[in-house]
Amino acid sequence: MGELDGQVAVVTGSSRGIGRAIALELGARGCRVVINYHHNEAAAQEVATLVREAGSEAVTQAADICVSEQAQQLIDSAVTNFGGLDILVNNAGITRDGLSMRMSEEDWDAVLDTNLKSAFHCCKAAQRIMLRKRYGRIVNIGSVAGLVGNAGQINYASAKAGLVGLTKSLARELASRSITVNLVAPGYVSTEMTAKLPQELMQKILANIPLQRLAQPEEIAMAVAFLASPGAGYITGQVLTVDGGISM
Ligand code: NAD
Repeated sequence: MGELDGQVAVVTGSSRGIGRAIALELGARGCRVVINYHHNEAAAQEVATLVREAGSEAVTQAADICVSEQAQQLIDSAVTNFGGLDILVNNAGITRDGLSMRMSEEDWDAVLDTNLKSAFHCCKAAQRIMLRKRYGRIVNIGSVAGLVGNAGQINYASAKAGLVGLTKSLARELASRSITVNLVAPGYVSTEMTAKLPQELMQKILANIPLQRLAQPEEIAMAVAFLASPGAGYITGQVLTVDGGISM
């Protein structure tokens, strides 16, 4: 028996990277999972298959969560397929790095829409279900960049800092119904997002991480699974940093 047996989770952007690891971890704990993808259906299907092989249930759902109607459809799919929603993990995100002086408005908007507005859309749709049930766990994936800033990431750091405000405000709005809202702020994680960083920059980053390595996606997933569990019911509005010590 897993600690999340019978519960239902939606994980945005879960066909790869950290989202994939979160979907697998929640599935391994008995949760039924909606695997959201933007473009790569085959990768999402593979994650769903792995969840099923581990003994739980999973479905895939295409949605560009920047679009409110599609975010609504994603949340609706949890109800249609599994009869409810207990856990929402707002994981999907993108980077479009560049110094602010040269950053296009398009790159600003794309990053704010994908990392911040999408979470607003998904939370808005999810809370209707959670409020009725008087139970819910929302976990947002932020970043250390949103806590301490990062040169070349003014759009991304602003979006992730915005997620902290979203997390705390929503936590206050929903607390009376036993719905918790928290944020996990990873440092540098070994995924396709960091694979595109230049080797030279990566060496500098590693020199500043006390644990001297990148995180594995599974290490972020463990923190998310804890905050998504019934046992974390007295924790809300918090930022849990999982960064190898880089921001201390
Ligand atoms: P990734 O690029 O491997 O995965 C991101 C996922 O989000 C992809 O599956 C992508 O398809 C999905 N996505 C993007 N736009 C979407 C949209 N409009 N609708 C639906 N899905 C969409 O990145 P990752 O490293 O796994 O990052 C996951 C989260 O963790 C992001 O929010 C990221 O900002 C955050 N994060 C990552 C790191 C890191 O070092 N990798 C560090 C801190 C925070």
